Amino acid sequence: MKKIFSFLALFFMLLSCSTNKTTITARTQSEPEIEYDNFFTGNTMRYDFHHAGNNLYEEYYFDRVIREGIWAGSEALLINPFDYGEQMFRIIDSESGKVIYKNNYCTLFNEWQTTPEAAATKRSFPESVIFPEPKGNFIIEFFARNKKSKEWEKKYSQNVDVSDFNIQKSLVKYEACDIHIGGDIAHSLDIVLLPDGFTAEEKEKFLASCRMWSDALFSYEPFTQNRHRINIRAVWAPSLEKGISKPGNGKWVNNLMGTRFFTFNSERYQMTEEFQKVRDVAANAPYESIFILTNTDKYGGGGIYNFYGLGSAGKTGRTGEVYVHEFGHSLMGLGDEYIEKGNTVSALYPEGKEPWEANLTRLVKFEGKWENMIDKSTPTPTVVAEGSTEKDWVIGTYEGGGYLEKGIYRGWPECMMKALTDFCPVCQKAISRYLDYLCK
Ligand SMILES: [Zn+2]
Repeated sequence: MKKIFSFLALFFMLLSCSTNKTTITARTQSEPEIEYDNFFTGNTMRYDFHHAGNNLYEEYYFDRVIREGIWAGSEALLINPFDYGEQMFRIIDSESGKVIYKNNYCTLFNEWQTTPEAAATKRSFPESVIFPEPKGNFIIEFFARNKKSKEWEKKYSQNVDVSDFNIQKSLVKYEACDIHIGGDIAHSLDIVLLPDGFTAEEKEKFLASCRMWSDALFSYEPFTQNRHRINIRAVWAPSLEKGISKPGNGKWVNNLMGTRFFTFNSERYQMTEEFQKVRDVAANAPYESIFILTNTDKYGGGGIYNFYGLGSAGKTGRTGEVYVHEFGHSLMGLGDEYIEKGNTVSALYPEGKEPWEANLTRLVKFEGKWENMIDKSTPTPTVVAEGSTEKDWVIGTYEGGGYLEKGIYRGWPECMMKALTDFCPVCQKAISRYLDYLCK
């Protein structure tokens, strides 16, 4: 019986869904102030769905709505003012028609769309977004960037009745532990660290890894000077089996969140395709940003903007720095500043279109990035003089980045997003600005 009721509820909720492929320019910076207490309950709401398609198109299928714990994001700035990401969603109050929340993100599906598999087959990936729980009925709208023009297109919307008894309550319970508390929840960046592949007797090993992660993050600017407004909590959620799957080596592990190497057949790309399981575990602590620590020493990881970051917990050589690099991706979508030799064309960064990433430019729409940090006497492109050292470098436009050799520029010769050194001055400023938004 329960299954029949669930199916009917899903059917009726789907009736109120619609797809609209008209191109629109999503409002970003001009939204009026929103009184948090007027529109929101103080808790978190989660919307789960499936993102499906191939390399050319995408569709959204509703899964479920869940009520979770306290809202950890800003109460003062409910509209993300940065036009980052490949995806965007917004919440509209049904009664007033007012946009009361908006956030941007990227997904594993977006990356999969660039793989050869996506040209040959269709797939769906579980996805999920969180937002402050509205008091009244609302409309959730999803947007994606057009692959060529990079303009936002509305893809899907759904009316949600907050009195619907099918809205679930978060039921998965795990213990949460404080690793570093810098400030109050509403005015701090709240990071949650999650374990995968740690068995029940490995709690202390996981918590030691969390402290190591925290120490690694705070050893890099601008995180060092912002530690008073960053909170790091860990959720202790053991796996039945130890370790991480390595499908390319024939090894499968029954871990809690399905983390694995060989994502999209790339050995070092360590991710999980089971994002809703990740959300279930994360819901046990107040959070805005998720980082998964996997019980392995093997080099590898991944990070996707406003989705999650992931890294190996074992500290071997460069692994600690990989944490911080992947966190640069997952926190605010910083682009990779490195070059792949001989690479001249990229679907990610089409010619003539400005990348949305704060640390890359094609000089198409440079204003608002680091243009005002460059001395007028600095030539474009900027070149590192032979024999010069870091103390001689200036902020400029150095050619190469985003995996391309030509036509795309970064602001400094080296960076955490290029060669795992310190964050460059451009990234440091961009991170500080993003923290100002998150902590307002
Ligand atoms: Zn940088």
